[in-house]
Amino acid sequence: RVKNRSKNDYEFFDREMKISNQRAFQIKNDLRMGLENNQFYMVYQPKVSPEEGIVTSCEALIRWKHPDFQEISPGEFIPLAEELGMINDIGDWVIENVCRQLQQWESLGYDLLPVSINLSSSQFLQVNFTEKFWSHLQTYRVHPAWIQIEITESLFIDNMKYVQQILETMKEQGIKVALDDFGTGYSSLAYLQKLDLDILKIDKSLIRGISNVSTKKEIATTIVQLGKSLGMKVVAEGVENKDEMEILCRYDIDEIQGYYYSKPLTVPAMSEILKTKKIVP
Ligand code: C2E
Ligand code: MG
Ligand code: MG
Ligand code: MG
Repeated sequence: RVKNRSKNDYEFFDREMKISNQRAFQIKNDLRMGLENNQFYMVYQPKVSPEEGIVTSCEALIRWKHPDFQEISPGEFIPLAEELGMINDIGDWVIENVCRQLQQWESLGYDLLPVSINLSSSQFLQVNFTEKFWSHLQTYRVHPAWIQIEITESLFIDNMKYVQQILETMKEQGIKVALDDFGTGYSSLAYLQKLDLDILKIDKSLIRGISNVSTKKEIATTIVQLGKSLGMKVVAEGVENKDEMEILCRYDIDEIQGYYYSKPLTVPAMSEILKTKKIVP
């Protein structure tokens, strides 16, 4: 009986694998076409200062409207794009798109907010990354004060010195640097102290269920204190309800991002937010 069951499980697993492999194969195959045919677009998720109750910045997140699969989440296609080396072109498209958007908002008379851009590690590490980055800011006359970058811990593995140098120049020019998804990886104190980053983002996996799980509360408080003691701003992502929001406010968190305040918004909806900076939970 045990034997049969494991055989069925295996067949089920095998079938699932084939489906997901086929899907991954098609997605990889279609990335280039997606870029060429304008199937990608950006959405913007507000970050709120709980103290002031206003929107203080936002995160740019890529979306892909695939002709067969409808919306494919970046959680699925970004890793595939990384495998293919396509992330450089996609990442470049993202930076240009955000710069163009900032220029458009400015020319329409909106008061801007800082926009954070996610950079995948391999994109950051390509040789001409900073050149392309600055050229987009220049082309669209974007002041560096309006751009933040979100990087993850994986970037520092094996590349500490090189990455540190590049970040230093970016920071000198006024770009704020955030460490994304903190609390999921190595979360090493040693390099956090060395790096002198501006913003620490607590990963949503630590926020989910924080009101019921005391260990999560303790880890989150520790991270907030750690960030603060290093002079960083601390942001919580994935805040979905009032309970979570209230707990985090007690910890003196600087910004809150999550469905409680707002899902990622299309450009017209984000433009409305820019008019007043107000948001209703
Ligand atoms: P991330 O940078 O950690 O972004 C946060 C993710 O959490 C986003 O998912 C956002 O929509 C989602 N989120 C925000 N608030 C909540 C909430 O309250 N509840 C829940 N359940 N989720 C929430 P998204 O947009 O699907 O992006 C997933 C990941 O894909 C991002 O994680 C980031 O690593 C990557 N990504 C997205 N856009 C880009 C991009 O333009 N370039 C690169 N390189 N990566 C990107
Ligand atoms: Mg992010
Ligand atoms: Mg994150
Ligand atoms: Mg994340």
